[in-house]
Amino acid sequence: MAELTFLNEASVVHNLATRYSIDNIYTYSGLFLVAVNPYKNLPIYGLDTINAYKNKHRDEVAPHIYSITDQAFRNMLETYESQSILVTGESGAGKTENTKKVIQYLAAIASESNKTSQRNRPNGKGATFEQQILQANPILEAFGNAQTVRNNNSSRFGKFIRIEFNKSGQIAGASIYWYLLEKSRVIYQNSKERNYHIFYQLVRGASKDLREALILEPDVMSYSYLKNANKSIEGVDDKEEFKNLLASFKIMGLSSQEVNDILRIISAILHIGNIQLGSESTDQGRVLNIPQLERVAHLLGIHSDQFMKSLLKPRVKAGREWVTQSRSAEQVRHSLDSLAKSLYERIFSSIVNRINQTLERSSDNTSFIGVLDIAGFEIFQTNSFEQLCINYTNEKLQQFFNHHMFVLEQEEYTRENIEWKFIDFGHDLQPTIDLIEKSNPMGVFSCLDEECVMPRATDQSFTEKLNNLWSNKSTKFKPTRLNQGFLLTHYAAEVEYSTDGWLEKNKDPMNENVVALLVESSETLVRHLFSDEAESIGKEEVDLGRSQHRNRVKKGIFRTVAQRHKEQLAYLMAQLNATHPHFVRCIVPNDQKAPKQFDNMLVLDQLRCNGVLEGIRIARTGYPNRLFFSEFRLRYEVLVSNMPKGYIEGQKASELILKNLGLDENLYKVGLTKVFFKSGVLAELEERREAM
Ligand code: ATP
Ligand code: MG
Repeated sequence: MAELTFLNEASVVHNLATRYSIDNIYTYSGLFLVAVNPYKNLPIYGLDTINAYKNKHRDEVAPHIYSITDQAFRNMLETYESQSILVTGESGAGKTENTKKVIQYLAAIASESNKTSQRNRPNGKGATFEQQILQANPILEAFGNAQTVRNNNSSRFGKFIRIEFNKSGQIAGASIYWYLLEKSRVIYQNSKERNYHIFYQLVRGASKDLREALILEPDVMSYSYLKNANKSIEGVDDKEEFKNLLASFKIMGLSSQEVNDILRIISAILHIGNIQLGSESTDQGRVLNIPQLERVAHLLGIHSDQFMKSLLKPRVKAGREWVTQSRSAEQVRHSLDSLAKSLYERIFSSIVNRINQTLERSSDNTSFIGVLDIAGFEIFQTNSFEQLCINYTNEKLQQFFNHHMFVLEQEEYTRENIEWKFIDFGHDLQPTIDLIEKSNPMGVFSCLDEECVMPRATDQSFTEKLNNLWSNKSTKFKPTRLNQGFLLTHYAAEVEYSTDGWLEKNKDPMNENVVALLVESSETLVRHLFSDEAESIGKEEVDLGRSQHRNRVKKGIFRTVAQRHKEQLAYLMAQLNATHPHFVRCIVPNDQKAPKQFDNMLVLDQLRCNGVLEGIRIARTGYPNRLFFSEFRLRYEVLVSNMPKGYIEGQKASELILKNLGLDENLYKVGLTKVFFKSGVLAELEERREAM
């Protein structure tokens, strides 16, 4: 697409729409593979298709996610350089589906070259390593996906899956990193959405024994964390999905004890939601259903009296003294909800760690292909801290893309011996990135962190401080007129952020008295989930990948959500920087989740936000159209009349034609094998041809 002779926003959209109407959902646009969600099953993912793409160059076959994957695989084998495939797009655009296809393709072609490998022999439980890699996804989706307004199977976290290969292309291991799990969903969902799939699967699918062990009711209506939103998804049988989940766990090598321990936490979370509170007095809450609190205590392996005391009358340090505080019903509800969220995030993290343990690489002598499935740029009616985190991530990824494009273009010009300094548009994004992540001068994250440790600080004091720091100091920052918040200029658009609740979101506090109980729980898994709290004070944890939760506390200082995200992202960028990247942009074609409908405006908006148009714009600042000498001659020699007879060498001939065409010399460059044109020049030559 980026090489189209006639190119503007309308022609890009038109091209995608035309292809979409005949089920060509994949299109190349410069460095991007654009994928438009078909919202129906197409016969393009079978084994025959996989075989058709194997070892084929991208020009030989129709655009496809398999082609990108094959290219990455071959690049890796040829250069030993690790590769990455970055998949982004809006919710519902098809990121996760395409990510699955990448892994399916890699597992298929690698198991081919793997026939003789040790790793591929079925292990004790009869599963091959490729099967295990493929089973990671159903587990991640059960715990990390939920029905939303936009997508019945929406991923509420980002992930980077690394598959390790040895020098002969056999899979040697894999690991998963995750980012930004939406844990608020555990306690509250929009009425047209659902909680995480696992809750419904467990409640509906648990066997009698399991139900008894986990004190579970068979009806989702029994649970206050589930009953106010959607209960079912059309076409999805939660009971069946639960069976599949158990099968996946088994293939992944988890014992039934391990699985039951995980599910016990899930049940405990549901039960936490059902603890009812009333008021003893205005500032002293009271538990109305004590048996319910006892169930939770039982499931979590803690003493119920102590649990009650930590909730209602926690001991806190006031100066040098320990005093007992009263907690209002509202405050107790809040600490219960925080407990539920924290348990969920920790169990999620622990499941990922457990999967990683099974998939751990076997040797050091490997390269990897990493697939990133992460939410694209977001602009909602109200944009909060979560949107800032995701937009900041996308700003960095766009910078990475721009820089990569610069490097490749510059290499091509050098190879062709052309003098041309291509501009690195990655630098354009730096001011916005600095504004978010820098500590000196203090950016948004640092400013927020600082307010989080200030006594009596509020969202408002944070906002004022930020305004004082940045108003009139950066063209990318503006205070807002009406609401409490600020405006940031991102590469894709200007976004207004509302700072309501940011201090709380960033601190993510837990009732420390309850944590102290959990650290000593009689349940091994519960103890394990909170082990960081027990050991980490005064310790520094740098292993961000494997145990992402160990870094809650650093050198005795509270580790905030913003800090953690910034560090995880820096680690991701470092990994990406060591790879040869491939870029996939997924597009939602309409708001109805319907096939065959292509909404031009909706698509255009996405092309603006996801960098496809930006990519084209950047390409056009250089010499985006290029033709080999032979092609150029074949097409445009007819436009000039006085070419000498007889053999002329390609470069000479092209120069002669160009001179005779009377083109401004700034509009083209002659390389060693190709002629390079500024955008629009070929379009003009085409018009001249047509006029002949
Ligand atoms: P989110 O950000 O919410 O996780 P996503 O970009 O990961 O969204 P997917 O879950 O991959 O979106 O896709 C949403 C739905 O669209 C899928 O459940 C599936 O029904 C349909 N879909 C997406 N891609 C394809 C495809 N290539 N073929 C068939 N159906 C698809
Ligand atoms: Mg997804």
